[in-house]
Amino acid sequence: MDLFEYQGKEYFSKYGIPTSPGGKAKTVEEALEVAERIGYPVVVKAQVQVGGRGKAGGIKIAESGDEVKVHASNILGMDIKGHTVKLIWLERASDIKKEYYASFTLDRSKREHLCMLSSQGGVEIEQVAETNPDAIVKLHIDPVVGVEEESLMTQVKAAGIDEEAQQGTVDILKKLYTCFQDGDADLVEINPLILTTQGKVHALDAKVTLDDDAKFRHPEWSEFENTGDIDEREKFAHEKGLNYIGLDGTVGVIANGAGLAMSTCDVVNQVGGSPANFLDIGGGANADVMANALEVINSDPKVKAIFVNIFGGIVRTDEVANGILTALSRVNISSPIVLRLDGTNAEIAREILKDHISDKLIVEPTMLEAAVRAVAVAKERDGGK
Ligand code: GDP
Ligand code: MG
Repeated sequence: MDLFEYQGKEYFSKYGIPTSPGGKAKTVEEALEVAERIGYPVVVKAQVQVGGRGKAGGIKIAESGDEVKVHASNILGMDIKGHTVKLIWLERASDIKKEYYASFTLDRSKREHLCMLSSQGGVEIEQVAETNPDAIVKLHIDPVVGVEEESLMTQVKAAGIDEEAQQGTVDILKKLYTCFQDGDADLVEINPLILTTQGKVHALDAKVTLDDDAKFRHPEWSEFENTGDIDEREKFAHEKGLNYIGLDGTVGVIANGAGLAMSTCDVVNQVGGSPANFLDIGGGANADVMANALEVINSDPKVKAIFVNIFGGIVRTDEVANGILTALSRVNISSPIVLRLDGTNAEIAREILKDHISDKLIVEPTMLEAAVRAVAVAKERDGGK
């Protein structure tokens, strides 16, 4: 579960990480009230669960009530990478001397926690990671041992954090690690972590992803639910018990098994298309599940072709073929289906489907050929895009 910046900052505060005082607002009037209460200058910040708000014009400094009105009305309703701003956060503006970057996450391959730190934080961190990766200093942490003051200080110095900010940064890293560990987060990130002209170190931004599997021991997390950006397609799919993740493309994807579903998305990209979703129908690819899956994908107006990729291992593809026919008789599907069925009883499955092949139900022998066909169909129906 991803938190909004303001929620992330509340989470940080619980662990003693310093942030600026502020408040949230849904309207221009509320924004003005908050600004008057905290005092000028204030920063007006779009609350959307996507990075790069600053570059998109979603972060502005206001010196007066009039400026708050202008910025709040511009930012509320703004679209940032497909996310509509419904809420803003206002906080006392900080005088920035330096912007750093700090985060903790899990390094699965090493089975350790990973701390990343850089003295070149701020809105260009992705570019730093690409062009100057050595500027991001990494420290692996054995979760049994935890963080040690000494190794954190070594890392802080290696990252080139200014001397006056070194102790403050170590203190925040210790607290941030507790927040990550005790707070059951998958990711905690502060970008920028700033040194102010007054010589204080504090968090100016907050990105927190909580580990959904730890929800059972955090009843207080319920306050974060229902506040996030909800993808209507995902809601619909989850109601039907499907393992679905919405993406931005035009090729709807249905596969059995998470690994095959991911490969299917990859191969769609590889041949120049873009998947509209990830959908794993699991081992029980029966008519009901298939009908539900097709219904969910059919509800996405961006979808122009549906790529059904089934490999019969335990599952019998003849049952899948019958399932698809039953599903097609139940649901009126608007996009053509490109089907690849392979594995157990594939010959029987092709026989079952033989008389139903049309330009609405296309069968291809391999995953790659099916991907090429699905992408071609999607592009043709999307006006060549
Ligand atoms: P992001 O673009 O979504 O990462 O949003 P951030 O909260 O990180 O803000 C982006 C940038 O806006 C920061 O890197 C700062 O340069 C600037 N900014 C944010 N808050 C303040 C502030 O209080 N004072 C000043 N001077 N700049 C700020
Ligand atoms: Mg940021």
